Amino acid sequence: MNTQTKEQAPLLSEEETLKLFTDSGALLHGHFKLTSGRHSDLYYEKFTILKNPAVCEPLCRQMARLFSEQQVEVVVGPTTGGILIAYEVAKELGVHSLYAEPGESGDKRIFKRGFSLDAGQRVLIVDDIVTTGRSMFEVISLVESYDAKIVGIGAMLDRSGGAIDLGYPLSALTTVSADSWTPEDCPMCKEGKELTQRGSRSS
Ligand SMILES: [Zn+2]
Repeated sequence: MNTQTKEQAPLLSEEETLKLFTDSGALLHGHFKLTSGRHSDLYYEKFTILKNPAVCEPLCRQMARLFSEQQVEVVVGPTTGGILIAYEVAKELGVHSLYAEPGESGDKRIFKRGFSLDAGQRVLIVDDIVTTGRSMFEVISLVESYDAKIVGIGAMLDRSGGAIDLGYPLSALTTVSADSWTPEDCPMCKEGKELTQRGSRSS
Protein backbone atom coordinates (compact mmCIF):
# COMPACT_ATOMS: atom_id res chain seq x y z
CA MET A 1 0.00 0.00 0.00
CA ASN A 2 1.28 3.40 -0.87
CA THR A 3 1.12 5.53 2.25
CA GLN A 4 2.90 8.47 0.73
CA THR A 5 0.94 11.65 0.31
CA LYS A 6 0.38 13.03 -3.16
CA GLU A 7 3.73 14.07 -4.52
CA GLN A 8 4.04 17.81 -4.69
CA ALA A 9 5.70 19.49 -7.62
CA PRO A 10 8.24 22.10 -6.61
CA LEU A 11 6.84 25.58 -6.24
CA LEU A 12 7.42 27.75 -9.26
CA SER A 13 9.73 30.66 -8.67
CA GLU A 14 8.35 34.12 -9.25
CA GLU A 15 10.36 34.25 -12.48
CA GLU A 16 8.92 30.97 -13.71
CA THR A 17 5.43 32.18 -12.88
CA LEU A 18 6.01 35.39 -14.79
CA LYS A 19 7.27 33.35 -17.75
CA LEU A 20 4.07 31.27 -17.61
CA PHE A 21 2.01 34.46 -17.76
CA THR A 22 4.00 35.78 -20.71
CA ASP A 23 4.22 32.47 -22.62
CA SER A 24 0.49 31.84 -22.30
CA GLY A 25 -0.19 35.29 -23.75
CA ALA A 26 -1.82 36.59 -20.57
CA LEU A 27 0.71 39.32 -19.98
CA LEU A 28 1.12 41.59 -22.96
CA HIS A 29 3.74 44.24 -23.49
CA GLY A 30 2.90 47.17 -25.74
CA HIS A 31 1.06 50.45 -25.68
CA PHE A 32 -2.42 50.06 -24.29
CA LYS A 33 -5.34 52.36 -23.64
CA LEU A 34 -7.07 51.23 -20.45
CA THR A 35 -10.75 51.72 -19.66
CA SER A 36 -9.73 54.50 -17.29
CA GLY A 37 -8.42 56.39 -20.31
CA ARG A 38 -4.85 56.10 -19.09
CA HIS A 39 -2.11 54.52 -21.18
CA SER A 40 0.02 51.60 -20.00
CA ASP A 41 2.97 49.57 -21.25
CA LEU A 42 1.61 46.34 -19.79
CA TYR A 43 -1.73 44.62 -20.13
CA TYR A 44 -2.97 41.55 -18.33
CA GLU A 45 -5.57 39.54 -20.23
CA LYS A 46 -6.77 37.53 -17.27
CA PHE A 47 -9.19 35.28 -19.11
CA THR A 48 -6.31 33.90 -21.14
CA ILE A 49 -5.36 32.06 -17.96
CA LEU A 50 -8.82 31.54 -16.50
CA LYS A 51 -10.10 29.81 -19.64
CA ASN A 52 -7.18 27.39 -19.69
CA PRO A 53 -7.23 24.70 -16.97
CA ALA A 54 -3.74 23.56 -17.97
CA VAL A 55 -2.37 26.89 -16.78
CA CYS A 56 -4.99 27.98 -14.25
CA GLU A 57 -4.96 24.79 -12.22
CA PRO A 58 -1.21 24.66 -11.48
CA LEU A 59 -1.27 28.36 -10.58
CA CYS A 60 -4.13 27.81 -8.15
CA ARG A 61 -2.38 24.77 -6.68
CA GLN A 62 0.63 26.98 -6.16
CA MET A 63 -1.51 29.60 -4.46
CA ALA A 64 -3.08 26.97 -2.19
CA ARG A 65 0.38 25.88 -1.11
CA LEU A 66 1.27 29.42 -0.05
CA PHE A 67 -1.49 29.16 2.55
CA SER A 68 -1.28 25.46 3.43
CA GLU A 69 -0.17 26.29 7.01
CA GLN A 70 -2.92 28.83 7.66
CA GLN A 71 -5.69 26.37 8.57
CA VAL A 72 -7.96 27.96 6.00
CA GLU A 73 -11.61 27.04 6.49
CA VAL A 74 -13.15 28.79 3.51
CA VAL A 75 -11.89 30.57 0.39
CA VAL A 76 -13.67 33.68 -0.88
CA GLY A 77 -13.19 35.41 -4.23
CA PRO A 78 -14.95 38.23 -6.06
CA THR A 79 -16.84 37.65 -9.31
CA THR A 80 -15.90 36.85 -12.05
CA GLY A 81 -12.34 35.56 -12.11
CA GLY A 82 -12.33 35.07 -8.36
CA ILE A 83 -15.07 32.42 -8.62
CA LEU A 84 -12.80 30.10 -10.57
CA ILE A 85 -9.73 30.80 -8.50
CA ALA A 86 -11.52 30.44 -5.17
CA TYR A 87 -12.99 27.12 -6.31
CA GLU A 88 -9.66 25.70 -7.51
CA VAL A 89 -7.76 26.87 -4.43
CA ALA A 90 -10.49 25.52 -2.14
CA LYS A 91 -10.36 22.19 -3.97
CA GLU A 92 -6.63 21.98 -3.26
CA LEU A 93 -7.09 22.91 0.39
CA GLY A 94 -10.07 20.59 0.83
CA VAL A 95 -12.43 23.34 1.97
CA HIS A 96 -15.45 25.22 0.59
CA SER A 97 -15.38 28.27 -1.65
CA LEU A 98 -17.75 31.22 -1.78
CA TYR A 99 -17.94 34.12 -4.15
CA ALA A 100 -18.81 37.73 -3.54
CA GLU A 101 -21.05 39.47 -6.04
CA PRO A 102 -21.63 43.16 -6.70
CA GLY A 103 -24.36 44.67 -4.53
CA GLU A 104 -27.28 46.74 -5.82
CA SER A 105 -25.40 50.01 -5.57
CA GLY A 106 -22.34 48.56 -7.30
CA ASP A 107 -19.90 49.95 -4.75
CA LYS A 108 -19.77 46.97 -2.45
CA ARG A 109 -19.83 43.19 -2.49
CA ILE A 110 -22.47 40.92 -1.05
CA PHE A 111 -23.11 37.22 -0.67
CA LYS A 112 -26.10 35.79 -2.48
CA ARG A 113 -27.24 32.17 -2.92
CA GLY A 114 -27.42 31.59 0.81
CA PHE A 115 -23.67 32.08 1.24
CA SER A 116 -22.56 33.16 4.69
CA LEU A 117 -19.58 33.08 7.05
CA ASP A 118 -19.35 32.29 10.75
CA ALA A 119 -17.72 34.64 13.23
CA GLY A 120 -14.10 33.64 13.68
CA GLN A 121 -14.07 31.42 10.59
CA ARG A 122 -10.62 31.38 8.95
CA VAL A 123 -10.97 32.93 5.53
CA LEU A 124 -8.56 33.11 2.63
CA ILE A 125 -9.43 35.79 0.05
CA VAL A 126 -8.21 35.24 -3.51
CA ASP A 127 -8.40 37.00 -6.84
CA ASP A 128 -6.49 37.01 -10.10
CA ILE A 129 -5.02 40.47 -10.30
CA VAL A 130 -4.56 43.32 -7.86
CA THR A 131 -4.13 46.75 -9.37
CA THR A 132 -5.92 49.34 -7.27
CA GLY A 133 -7.17 46.71 -4.83
CA ARG A 134 -10.77 47.86 -5.35
CA SER A 135 -12.29 44.37 -5.57
CA MET A 136 -10.10 43.12 -2.73
CA PHE A 137 -11.13 45.99 -0.45
CA GLU A 138 -14.79 45.25 -1.22
CA VAL A 139 -14.37 41.57 -0.31
CA ILE A 140 -12.37 42.42 2.82
CA SER A 141 -15.24 44.67 4.03
CA LEU A 142 -17.73 41.91 3.34
CA VAL A 143 -15.73 39.26 5.22
CA GLU A 144 -15.10 41.64 8.12
CA SER A 145 -18.84 42.33 8.36
CA TYR A 146 -19.27 38.68 9.45
CA ASP A 147 -16.45 38.98 12.04
CA ALA A 148 -14.66 36.19 10.20
CA LYS A 149 -10.88 36.01 10.45
CA ILE A 150 -8.93 36.87 7.31
CA VAL A 151 -5.83 34.66 7.43
CA GLY A 152 -4.41 35.66 4.08
CA ILE A 153 -4.94 37.27 0.72
CA GLY A 154 -3.73 35.60 -2.45
CA ALA A 155 -3.45 36.95 -5.97
CA MET A 156 -2.00 35.56 -9.14
CA LEU A 157 -0.53 38.89 -10.06
CA ASP A 158 0.20 42.02 -8.06
CA ARG A 159 0.33 44.81 -10.61
CA SER A 160 1.04 47.45 -8.01
CA GLY A 161 4.68 46.43 -7.79
CA GLY A 162 4.14 45.49 -4.15
CA ALA A 163 3.02 49.03 -3.27
CA ILE A 164 -0.54 48.20 -2.33
CA ASP A 165 -1.52 47.97 1.34
CA LEU A 166 -4.70 45.96 1.86
CA GLY A 167 -4.38 45.93 5.64
CA TYR A 168 -3.66 42.18 5.53
CA PRO A 169 -0.64 40.37 4.12
CA LEU A 170 -0.90 39.89 0.37
CA SER A 171 0.87 36.92 -1.21
CA ALA A 172 1.03 37.19 -4.99
CA LEU A 173 2.45 34.50 -7.26
CA THR A 174 4.22 37.25 -9.10
CA THR A 175 4.58 40.99 -8.84
CA VAL A 176 5.00 43.45 -11.65
CA SER A 177 5.16 47.18 -11.66
CA ALA A 178 2.98 48.58 -14.41
CA ASP A 179 3.17 52.27 -15.03
CA SER A 180 0.30 54.20 -16.51
CA TRP A 181 0.09 57.74 -17.78
CA THR A 182 -2.44 60.25 -18.97
CA PRO A 183 -2.32 60.47 -22.78
CA GLU A 184 -0.65 63.88 -22.44
CA ASP A 185 2.19 62.46 -20.33
CA CYS A 186 2.52 59.09 -22.09
CA PRO A 187 6.09 58.52 -23.31
CA MET A 188 4.92 55.99 -25.92
CA CYS A 189 2.53 58.53 -27.44
CA LYS A 190 5.46 60.92 -27.67
CA GLU A 191 7.36 58.21 -29.57
CA GLY A 192 4.37 57.79 -31.89
CA LYS A 193 3.92 54.14 -30.93
CA GLU A 194 0.65 52.57 -32.12
CA LEU A 195 -2.03 52.42 -29.43
CA THR A 196 -4.12 49.31 -28.66
CA GLN A 197 -7.47 49.66 -26.94
CA ARG A 198 -7.81 47.17 -24.13
CA GLY A 199 -9.21 46.61 -20.78
CA SER A 200 -12.09 46.22 -18.48
CA ARG A 201 -12.59 47.79 -15.10
CA SER A 202 -9.22 47.88 -13.37
CA SER A 203 -9.40 45.86 -10.21
ZN1 LIG B 1 0.18 56.56 -24.96
